[in-house]
Amino acid sequence: MLASEVRALFAVASRPEIVSLAGGMPAVDALPLEAVAATTSDLITRRGAVALQYGSAQGDPQLRARICDVMAMEGITDAHPDNVVVTVGSQQALDLLTRVFIDPGDVVLTEGPTYVTAINTFAAYQARVVHVPMDADGLNPEALRETLARLAAEGSRVKMLYTVPTFQNPSGVTLTVPRRGEVVEACRRAGVLVVEDNPYGLLSFNGDPIRAMRADAPDDVVYLGSFSKTLAPGMRVGWALAPPPVAARLVLAAESAILSHSMFTQLTVEQYLATQPWPEQLKAFREMYRERRDAMLETLAETMPADSTWTRPDGGFFIWLTLPEGVDAKAMLPRAIAARVAYVPGTGFYADGSGRNAIRISYCYPPPDRVREGVRRLARVLRAELDL
Ligand code: PMP
Repeated sequence: MLASEVRALFAVASRPEIVSLAGGMPAVDALPLEAVAATTSDLITRRGAVALQYGSAQGDPQLRARICDVMAMEGITDAHPDNVVVTVGSQQALDLLTRVFIDPGDVVLTEGPTYVTAINTFAAYQARVVHVPMDADGLNPEALRETLARLAAEGSRVKMLYTVPTFQNPSGVTLTVPRRGEVVEACRRAGVLVVEDNPYGLLSFNGDPIRAMRADAPDDVVYLGSFSKTLAPGMRVGWALAPPPVAARLVLAAESAILSHSMFTQLTVEQYLATQPWPEQLKAFREMYRERRDAMLETLAETMPADSTWTRPDGGFFIWLTLPEGVDAKAMLPRAIAARVAYVPGTGFYADGSGRNAIRISYCYPPPDRVREGVRRLARVLRAELDL
């Protein structure tokens, strides 16, 4: 197990004088806190004895039913609450899935770059992470087919493809609809389970949410969802929707991990969704993050030196910035911190040391003016680095 570079950064990046473009923390102060307070108070008054009691490892049935309604917003209309397992954030779903499926040496395919904590989870169970190249349209299906063929030829056992197809962490890139079908088909043929991790899907800036991969492939895809970015990460409520035999094993794994999920946070989320205008809240989040995304894109265009490129996310929290060849983003970080801006070096998002001249910058937490100031500071550091 290795310490996460992102976690180590949090202590420094949270100093008030620093503009942190490093974290992926949602702007929870945008939540109507009185509504949350009213929900919890009402919950304890009306259902306190249930909320404070043990529950099941699979999660509260009413919440699971409500989760099915949430997934319908992304085209998943056939989900049954029996096949939903509530987890401690979607992170725990990832951990349980890895525990159930991975033996040491098994291969997990992921985008390159990919979500840093997923890499750490796979490493903790001694999986071998193999990256599949991606571009502005997401994971490249041709490269996926080649990788599967190569690994089969060398006798490696590929267990799953872990993908964040929508507004990916860390790149902000979205897998196109035609590619979604191709990716699922390639995995189906190879007998490889697809894990669709989708915490950002409802935070789209251009209208309706994108159709989930799971919507068209119920037998081949395990879908992971979360209320962390659409409500509050402090609730620690996420879930997995899985084919019945997989769901059954996830419940067994959850029992040995946590015995029972927190009834208090589950019922708080359930009651919040039932009684508060959550769709309005989602809309407000989307507008807020879109304004911050725009502030970041505009300032990047104004300030970045030639030969830098960046992604243009249509939702979510992150932009992937590729710096001119030869820049070592990790070595530059202390100079950026001295200039009062923080980011995450790209190498953390690869299992193989790639990404030296890339960084992840997030626009989710600082307000637009601070986002602009952060990017300006970053551009000054980079220009000094390049002797411009
Ligand atoms: N997957 C991805 C891609 C994420 O970005 C995150 C949060 N940073 C998670 C999973 C975990 O989220 P949570 O456990 O809070 O649901």
